[in-house]
Amino acid sequence: MSANPVRMHAITQVQSYTPPPFSFDPGEEPGEVFGENVFSLSVMQKRLPKSVYKSVLSTIEKSTPLDPAVADAVASAMKDWALEKGATHYAHVFYPLTGLTAEKHDSFLDPVGDGTALASFSGKTLVQGEPDASSFPNGGLRNTFEARGYTGWDVMSPAYVLENPNGNTLCIPTVFISMTGEALDHKTPVLRSQQAMSVHAKRVLALFGHSDPDNVVAYCGPEQEYFLVDSHFFNARPDLLNAGRTLFGAKPPKGQEFDDHYFGAIPERVLGFMMDTERELFKLGIPAKTRHNEVAPGQFEVAPMFERANEASDHQQLLMTTFKSVAQRHGMECLFHEKPFDGVNGSGKHVNFSVGNSDLGSLLVPGDTPHDNAQFLVFCAAVIRAVDLYGGLLRVSVASASNDHRLGANEAPPAIISIFLGEQLADVFDQIAKGGATGSKEKGTLTIGVDTIPVLSKDPGDRNRTSPFAFTGNRFEFRAPGSNQTVAAPMVVLNTIMAEALDYCATTLEAAVAEGTDFDSAVQSLLTTIVADHGKVIFNGNGYSDEWPVEAEQRGLKNLRTTVDALPELISPEAVELFGKYSVFNEREMHSRFEIGCEQYVNSIQVEANTTGEMAQTMVLPAAIRYQTELAQNVAALKAAGVEADLSALNEISAPIADLKAGLAKLTEVCSAEPEEDLLEHARYMRDEVLPVMAAIRAAADTLENMVADDLWSLPTYQEMLYIL
Ligand code: ADP
Ligand code: MG
Repeated sequence: MSANPVRMHAITQVQSYTPPPFSFDPGEEPGEVFGENVFSLSVMQKRLPKSVYKSVLSTIEKSTPLDPAVADAVASAMKDWALEKGATHYAHVFYPLTGLTAEKHDSFLDPVGDGTALASFSGKTLVQGEPDASSFPNGGLRNTFEARGYTGWDVMSPAYVLENPNGNTLCIPTVFISMTGEALDHKTPVLRSQQAMSVHAKRVLALFGHSDPDNVVAYCGPEQEYFLVDSHFFNARPDLLNAGRTLFGAKPPKGQEFDDHYFGAIPERVLGFMMDTERELFKLGIPAKTRHNEVAPGQFEVAPMFERANEASDHQQLLMTTFKSVAQRHGMECLFHEKPFDGVNGSGKHVNFSVGNSDLGSLLVPGDTPHDNAQFLVFCAAVIRAVDLYGGLLRVSVASASNDHRLGANEAPPAIISIFLGEQLADVFDQIAKGGATGSKEKGTLTIGVDTIPVLSKDPGDRNRTSPFAFTGNRFEFRAPGSNQTVAAPMVVLNTIMAEALDYCATTLEAAVAEGTDFDSAVQSLLTTIVADHGKVIFNGNGYSDEWPVEAEQRGLKNLRTTVDALPELISPEAVELFGKYSVFNEREMHSRFEIGCEQYVNSIQVEANTTGEMAQTMVLPAAIRYQTELAQNVAALKAAGVEADLSALNEISAPIADLKAGLAKLTEVCSAEPEEDLLEHARYMRDEVLPVMAAIRAAADTLENMVADDLWSLPTYQEMLYIL
């Protein structure tokens, strides 16, 4: 145990921790509170006149515009419901490009002129808001003189009441746009891209004989990894406070080498936290489903059930805020950083993705008949085309300074975007490439299909954890997103590239049918063309191997190692054309996102560099020098006593102290240089000039941590942060 007073205090506090009172009401059934605070479809059905309810439903399912009279009726019912739930305020909640959630609260009360006030909330207030939002990142989209931003209700994402000890708030999920209608947020492009994808998916469905299908949506089921650290340790680490990750810390004697944490028994304190978070999520209608320990000590995972992409993104943001606040209630901090501890497994957010609707289910599920399977294979082939043509966009959708520490680090997929299909599907596409599939490998035998399309088994088969984009039986799992990121960005890219691919499929098939080609043969030849053109993106091998980057390069797949390499993808001519064609982003919006990406990269490394400098200077160096002085005094005392002095310890510690000082001098130098004017160049400078100096400082400090007397070391160690909960 530590003898340093700071750490000692923290450890004593952790050991005397008492959990907060149990939040469940006595006699409460599990799941009883589900959706309690949500203005859901069922609440609407009960509280709205039938015609109003039908109209809202049709806006949700068929994208018909919302009638203002309907908005008034909904607003009035929503207000009454929220007041009954103890809400005093309402807020338009939006998702600016900071990646966080923003909300502007207004009181329901309006003065009526006679000195009293009445609760009021009109359809207009529900549907549109006007926050002064001049300090959100906009990447040049808005001048300060037109600082206004507008929020608009996303009818498809339900309103909810957020509880707070000081009064509840009715929250309305909204888009956030500029005066010119340009997107300043993450939600707007999700909705636009969803619409584009739906149009072309429906064309494909029509070809397969579905008349007037409901909108096709993207489903998203995000698996969220996170770390829990006791607050006392967290607060004693300026790096965790400022940067969300440790910038120093020698490896603990026991790491994750035993793999003994994965799916292990969940500690009691953590289980209490999980039950509390789940209850809070349930109230908000967030279907948290699975929970377990993850690979690293102190690491856990939660996975809610999949939902429509826009709702899933909102819920995902709400989940992260809920986790953070409930963790604090339990005396812990929840870390969503992609790599909070060097040398320890990082945290991702696997995005499970499929397309479908409530009527037809997932369109990425093999069907019961050869006809269904033809449709399934077309949707799969569309994914193959999309990912091959626009892998760079998928890569940039998950690019951030923090995710750079994780991707390609032998624990997360590499930065090369490829698809894993599994044995059965890979075999089918192999046969298709050779001119037409006639059977599928089912339990080793080949079943010949009735038509030319094979019967497929629904068993998802094997798993490949090293692939960034893996087919898992009824969906694809995009494993590159980072734990801290919004799932909106990858969903926008997935929707848009699927829109393009489905457009291509529909156009090709429609033309063939118009020329009188038999439909089955048209499908067959479409599949063959797609596999021939885009099969190179399929890779079923080990993505962590050293051979893969070499092979990927031969195949012509991009390997965009860092954020700086990936960001230009956003403004490539192909990307600008794609997003413009499907009305997801205009060129100005793409540029704004590129600029914000560069700025965020620069800012986060700048904060880390400042924190590194400060901690090295004021915490690490003083501890090392004190210890060096002690050693020197010891040598002097021994000499004075006439004993032969051993200088080795003194010499040994002097080398890393010199390295640390040199590193600090270098850091001051690189950080005080005039910044590059070009944003991308500035980002590159941070990557190539600043990060290596930080790494050198860390190496010296970590060496010192293993040398300096423990009572002089005030920073909680990896061992303490990871193992004491
Ligand atoms: P696994 O351990 O098999 O990866 P998990 O239960 O951890 O599975 O998480 C799987 C995630 O995938 C969940 O969020 C789940 O809701 C989601 N999911 C399941 N089916 C689909 C689907 N058709 N489309 C999108 N997401 C799905
Ligand atoms: Mg999974």
